[in-house]
Amino acid sequence: MRPLEKNSIPLILKNDIQKISQRNKIRICFHPQSPKECCGKKKGAHSVSKSPFLNAITENGKKNVIEFNIRISDGEDTCKEKSIKSVSKFYGFCEKHDTEFFRNIEARDFEANKQNAFLLNYRSTALVAYRYKENQEHNQYIIDRIDKIIEYNKTEFKFSDAELIVEDKNGLICEEIREEIKSILNKINPNNTDSRNSEKFLENIKEIYTSYLLNIKKRYTSRQETNTNYLTNTENLLNLQKQMFNTKKYDSFRYIYIFYNEKIPFAGSSSVGVYDKNGKLVIVTIHILPINQNNESKNYILLTWLSDEESIPINAIKECAEQEKNNLLNLCLTLSFTNQQNIFCTKETWDNLHCETRRKIETVSRENSNKQESSITDDCFDFSLNFSPIDSDGNVPFKLAL
Ligand SMILES: [Zn+2]
Repeated sequence: MRPLEKNSIPLILKNDIQKISQRNKIRICFHPQSPKECCGKKKGAHSVSKSPFLNAITENGKKNVIEFNIRISDGEDTCKEKSIKSVSKFYGFCEKHDTEFFRNIEARDFEANKQNAFLLNYRSTALVAYRYKENQEHNQYIIDRIDKIIEYNKTEFKFSDAELIVEDKNGLICEEIREEIKSILNKINPNNTDSRNSEKFLENIKEIYTSYLLNIKKRYTSRQETNTNYLTNTENLLNLQKQMFNTKKYDSFRYIYIFYNEKIPFAGSSSVGVYDKNGKLVIVTIHILPINQNNESKNYILLTWLSDEESIPINAIKECAEQEKNNLLNLCLTLSFTNQQNIFCTKETWDNLHCETRRKIETVSRENSNKQESSITDDCFDFSLNFSPIDSDGNVPFKLAL
């Protein structure tokens, strides 16, 4: 066990947590043939292609986009404005594989065909695996740190440590416990020379603090367990996709898309776990793909998933779409925002959403923060974005393609 840094005993420092939470620490290549022919250079890859999709919502990069962080925010800003160069970046592919593998979905002329749908699906699954790996590192850091502090508390805890817990605002501790320890410290009379008396107080503080730490550890251990399960599910899914690519057998790969020719000011690729009618969890990736070509708007909402059964969840999705044509678009946007959140728009677009809608997105996102699965229920429609692209005749330009 590495000893604790002297000046930080015996706290879990918020600064350190923030440093470890900063994204994109891991460098990996998820290409189906990796490590074969990996170039070793891990350049950040866009999880949503800059060209044509991000460009379409930012007037060719002239505007910044918002990166959402609602699910993991711990007092951090939930929406950060970034240039499209840095937004949506992750280090999940080496430079060579990233360029070769995704060439067709980074092209100006995007075509919604099976091959491209597969690539989008693959990149989305790789991003999910990448994020779970990051979470794993983050959780493990906190668990290890707590173990070290508990060890320290057993043998070396002293009064100055108790004072540090109370005074150092950089320490992760809830206000109630801080106050409790403070009130015990206040009871100690400096003029009382009976050292046995103050020893008793110190033991009491140690006990309170250690039990608090054990509680946090319990929470993180359980979070880590769930995260490991999700990572395993995702890696299994990715392995199936690797196999498909390597054997060229795409029998159980499914996709469905809708085409809109009115501008959609969002771009994204997010994964959502949806239960089908048989109660089986199907991971569906939702791709919101705006394209702006010669001032003409072409937009695809593409859903991809793996299933041996063709009809599921196509039926569920068709039902949603048929209730009201824009439901599917709104549902896709809502699910993207409230689940993986790998969705982007300009600050202008976000600010133009109704404040009640923004509030609901934030609430549901936090509720979903430790879940892999979601379900399409009537509730989703209650807070769906009310975004309706309508053409000049007042009709919804809509085409459902199977
Ligand atoms: Zn590689």
